[in-house]
Amino acid sequence: MTKVASDVYRVGDDMVSFYVLAEGADLTLVDAGLPAHYGRLTAALEGIGRSVRDVRAVVLTHAHLDHVGLAERLRREAGATVWVHALDEQALTTPLRPPADAKPEAGLGRYLLRHPTALRVPLHLARSGAFRTPAVTSARPFDDGMTLDVPGRPRVIAVPGHTPGSVAFHLPAQAAVFTGDALVTHDGLLGLTGTGPQIIGPVFTHDTTQARTSLEELASLDADLVLPGHGDPLRGAVADAVALARHAPC
Ligand SMILES: [Zn+2]
Repeated sequence: MTKVASDVYRVGDDMVSFYVLAEGADLTLVDAGLPAHYGRLTAALEGIGRSVRDVRAVVLTHAHLDHVGLAERLRREAGATVWVHALDEQALTTPLRPPADAKPEAGLGRYLLRHPTALRVPLHLARSGAFRTPAVTSARPFDDGMTLDVPGRPRVIAVPGHTPGSVAFHLPAQAAVFTGDALVTHDGLLGLTGTGPQIIGPVFTHDTTQARTSLEELASLDADLVLPGHGDPLRGAVADAVALARHAPC
């Protein structure tokens, strides 16, 4: 776990990131990684004198497998409340099978036939238990513009496209923004060429045109620290990251 801002810590592995947001002794998880990340999370929390029992809330940027792995476990073990955008709530109940109106634009199978090295992504997910992700049995829906009453008080910025209910979470006090998969700095499917600010390609994105449009919501935020769901954090104005992402291939 690395500290990325005051009261903000990054957890995960080299393919998937999620974050701990602290307010005093209470914690919010921004996204919930993969099932195999439980050990990393408990060790990381121990490192800052906390435990999973201090996790009050899990706020999700969207309901994809690689962002919800620990959500149900933390709900059960720590009594954490799981929050998600209303438009992604349904997907949380069937994490292995996205609803018909939230499916990606392109098929993964075809993509892998043309780009076999990209196979490392599903293999990594499989090894990390992604395909055993438990459904979240109870979640609280939120909407655009809300400031969530959870530790750290993140503000919801709707950035639909990657999924219908994709959001970013803005922390005005830290001038930071968690962008989930609306703006990432690494796309594992593309390997080394996929490094730098970008949207995620059609294999994992429901509507890439809408995802590009949503970048403008991010560009208007007062933030100079971008904390993505995949890839390293990026320091510098979020508007600059958006300018690069607008033209990046995906
Ligand atoms: Zn995603």
